[in-house]
Amino acid sequence: MSTRTPLMAGNWKMNLNHLEALTHVQKLAFALADKDYEAVEVAVLPPFTDLRSVQTLVEADELKIKYGAQDISRHDSGAYTGEVSGPMLAKLRCTYVLVGHSERRQYHNETDELVNAKIKAVYKHGMTPILCVGEELEVREEGNHVSHTLAQVEAGLKDIPAGQAGNLVIAYEPVWAIGTGKVCGADDAQEVCAAIRGKIAELYSQEVADQVRIQYGGSVKSGNVAEIMAQPDIDGALVGGASLDADEFVRIVRFHE
Ligand code: PEP
Repeated sequence: MSTRTPLMAGNWKMNLNHLEALTHVQKLAFALADKDYEAVEVAVLPPFTDLRSVQTLVEADELKIKYGAQDISRHDSGAYTGEVSGPMLAKLRCTYVLVGHSERRQYHNETDELVNAKIKAVYKHGMTPILCVGEELEVREEGNHVSHTLAQVEAGLKDIPAGQAGNLVIAYEPVWAIGTGKVCGADDAQEVCAAIRGKIAELYSQEVADQVRIQYGGSVKSGNVAEIMAQPDIDGALVGGASLDADEFVRIVRFHE
């Protein structure tokens, strides 16, 4: 495990309404309250409609659990029906915003250019982006997974200054491993995450590369998380399906026990 604080984040996708969100976060808080979890950062990424409820609970009970959004508009305000802006998310005191999740790229045709604009919107409003990158199955089968992923990293970070990039989180999520139960081998995940860190060093500096946290995502469960987290360039997990079960997510967060 690296010296960077691991970030274990649950991407709820389009699941759990705001009442279910309250119960879920309370369960997480209760289950994690008996230990000192300073060494691991825990975050939840609920649907937009849950964020206000989660904020209220986290602030009222002074929970250490962080929260954030699954997407953001590139625009600050205006005639963009259905969009949610950076100022709105910042007002809810979101810490994190997922950008470029493969489901956004696939179902909403998000391009690298849009992902880059969204990363800028996250930074503009003082939040931390979790930039999602990763290859489809055919790209891996062609052996182009590293170059494909690094191209997404470079495009996503276009014109982002070094002063901002240091607190960035990158989630390496091979598309073929998301929600499929097919987890990427720990060595294979490490190969790409090390290459991502090398790319950050090339774009910025080794110092920035050493700060950036790189998560693995794709069918992470309590049974495979320890092996993944043992890799030197993997600093956390982005957990989809398994984060909807509070007990299982707690087991994942406690991977080091
Ligand atoms: C995700 O949604 O980012 C994800 C990794 O999903 P899952 O854990 O279900 O594969």
